[in-house]
Amino acid sequence: MRMPELTVSRLGGDLALDLCNTVDWRLDPDRRSERLRSFAHVLAWLERVELLSPAHADRLAELAEADPSAAATEHARILALRDDSYAALTGDTASPAVLERELPVAHAASHLERSVHGVWAWHPRALGLDTPRHLLTLEFARLFASPALSGFHRCEDRHCGWVFLDTSRQHNRRWCSSADCGNRNRVRAHAERLRREAESQA
Ligand SMILES: [Zn+2]
Repeated sequence: MRMPELTVSRLGGDLALDLCNTVDWRLDPDRRSERLRSFAHVLAWLERVELLSPAHADRLAELAEADPSAAATEHARILALRDDSYAALTGDTASPAVLERELPVAHAASHLERSVHGVWAWHPRALGLDTPRHLLTLEFARLFASPALSGFHRCEDRHCGWVFLDTSRQHNRRWCSSADCGNRNRVRAHAERLRREAESQA
């Protein structure tokens, strides 16, 4: 099966935050745009960020084609996990309720595996349509418990809504991308300054 076309951004500095950034213009209801439009898009994303091997992504795509309704349910549950976790990270809700509900299920379906670097991590035991949800649940659980979250920041653009870990030395990163949101806001601020100056001289 051919995977759908997908633009993948990795500027969140963490896989779970990169997943949050699969919505463009999240804070502008008129422009909000979803990149993960189907379960197949989720598979393509997981393959691109190397959470799933190409062989496993292909196998899951076959399973999804055989049971489209189960795949649609999984797709909806993954978006709910992503958006509920995002709301907790940004302080819009008090706690990630969906993650708390999904985590025991993901753990029950997983076992601890040691990587070549000697680090232990949870991995799903078997490959099924619920594997992407379990993988992403475990990614969010790791992030929520990580000290790296002290660098969490939301892009200061009014509408962007992308999130990242600020690892800059001065801890002063304001934008998801300096070239994109940063540049646009600098241009706008400059135009507003010129307008105010012109008004004060009129
Ligand atoms: Zn931005």
